[in-house]
Amino acid sequence: AKSRGPNNYILFEPEMQAKVARRAKLEGELRRAIDQDRLAVHYQPLVDLRTGDVCGFEALARWTNEDGEQVPPNVFIPLAEETGLITLLFQQLLRQACEAAKSWSDEMVLSFNLSPVQMEDRMLPARILDILGKAGLPPQRLEIEITENALIADPALAEQIMQSLNAAGIQIALDDFGTGYSNLSQLARFRFDKIKIDKSFVATCGKDERSEKIIQAMLSLSRSLHARTTVEGVEDYGQLAHFVSHGCDIGQGYFFGKPIPAEEVPGFLRRRERV
Ligand code: C2E
Ligand code: CA
Ligand code: CA
Ligand code: CA
Repeated sequence: AKSRGPNNYILFEPEMQAKVARRAKLEGELRRAIDQDRLAVHYQPLVDLRTGDVCGFEALARWTNEDGEQVPPNVFIPLAEETGLITLLFQQLLRQACEAAKSWSDEMVLSFNLSPVQMEDRMLPARILDILGKAGLPPQRLEIEITENALIADPALAEQIMQSLNAAGIQIALDDFGTGYSNLSQLARFRFDKIKIDKSFVATCGKDERSEKIIQAMLSLSRSLHARTTVEGVEDYGQLAHFVSHGCDIGQGYFFGKPIPAEEVPGFLRRRERV
């Protein structure tokens, strides 16, 4: 029975109850995983399309729960955001990633995702700089990825945070470009070092004229904002060739390499040098 009464008795339906229980269990497990420092970071290569060199890695959070199952970040990141665990999770993973990045070559950037709610935290720049300082990683080696949605809640504060990060030498990338709340005049207010074209556009590239035009418009917008452009989700050579011919700067995707644990990074780089 799905009829809704005046009181929210729909909550007491068995499937709803099961869902609430599952979520509570997951939240408890996530809390423990953070307490015990059991979350991991994997690294996906970013490739300079002009030289073919790896110019950095994007850090991607990974969690294996107590039942040995991989919980996808699209599940546990929103949970961390809703429960306020995101700040702890962020700090823990950034510390881990900075340690890993220190062993890479000096030209390689560590790109780290930020949740939109973190752009409402005035202390964010100080938290990040504290972690970088303790790890001994120069701020120039860090890039922060934010989505358009991170700029909506409090644009003035977002701008202030971005200015602090920028002044410290940290780079800022606009992630998932083209999928969020896209108010172009608002976007122009913010300064980005990079703009990442969402992988949904890559999947359709070369297939129809409309998405072709959209891709071109995104690239030219990126150029006029003086940002470098990254294309994400490149899975085959055809897609790569397409974006290279359109003057895209950086590539990311399974074609170049999947996200891998820190210990596999040196081997990955060595294998690339040989080819
Ligand atoms: P994202 O930032 O857009 O990251 C790119 C996602 O695309 C990653 O999924 C990556 O594994 C996947 N990907 C990379 N190349 C390809 C490809 O060629 N084809 C396809 N189909 N997929 C590709 P993942 O690791 O599952 O992460 C999902 C999302 O979770 C991320 O999307 C990001 O929004 C969020 N996330 C991950 N780690 C963190 C984190 O530490 N903090 C925050 N706030 N969010 C994170
Ligand atoms: Ca990202
Ligand atoms: Ca993305
Ligand atoms: Ca995405």
